[in-house]
Amino acid sequence: MIQTHNLSKVYANGVVALANVTLYIEKGEFVFLVGPSGAGKSTFIKLVIRSELPTEGTIIVGRRNLVYLRPREIPFFRRNIGVIFQDYKLLPNKTVYENVAFALEVTEAPPREISRQVAAVLELVGLAARAHVRPAELSGGEQQRVSLARAIVNRPHLLLADEPTGNLDPDTSWGIMDLLLEINKRGTTVVMATHNKEIVNRMRRRVIALEAGRVVRDEPKGVYDET
Ligand code: ADP
Repeated sequence: MIQTHNLSKVYANGVVALANVTLYIEKGEFVFLVGPSGAGKSTFIKLVIRSELPTEGTIIVGRRNLVYLRPREIPFFRRNIGVIFQDYKLLPNKTVYENVAFALEVTEAPPREISRQVAAVLELVGLAARAHVRPAELSGGEQQRVSLARAIVNRPHLLLADEPTGNLDPDTSWGIMDLLLEINKRGTTVVMATHNKEIVNRMRRRVIALEAGRVVRDEPKGVYDET
């Protein structure tokens, strides 16, 4: 699903955010990306969604070599990828339903299909009853569930989560993790960048650890810290 070879990213200011990252993430995997702040986790995610280009090396997502992806191909490429962030990034003036439907409207799906899919995904995240309120009326955990619903309504092959539990209390965070696991079980590859030690240690999934832009550890049933 994601294959990189000697992937490096140096920003215009000279910061080396990623250096010689070579890794392979298979279809259907659930992977934690861990490491201290500034280690390069968000940069990795930005390269995967092609919002940044590598300075050196290759990155293949699905079957696309992103170095050669044309700008006009980017929107279509991104339809197969869902992304959620620490700060939800919902549209404040749209309802829950509209926030989720918006992701499908850009695909020009027929209205009946849109309402069917939005209803199903809001059911999955437990927010069917809140479909017509605006984000400000929801708790942080509920807002993250809306953002998750929006990310998966297109049925992406790949879901990227950048610190999705960063603003949430432990119980609410586990609710989000349960949903990510369920989505993974249904076949979506999940890559989650996180600082949340407790979650990583309890889940025992593959852990890729970055430090100063380099992969320092890659373990199949890893924990947050080196043992
Ligand atoms: P993490 O997500 O692990 O906290 P980031 O990928 O955000 O790490 O950042 C890696 C390094 O790259 C940091 O030193 C950060 O300051 C730097 N960086 C991130 N984005 C940019 C940018 N757009 N321009 C310049 N430097 C950046």
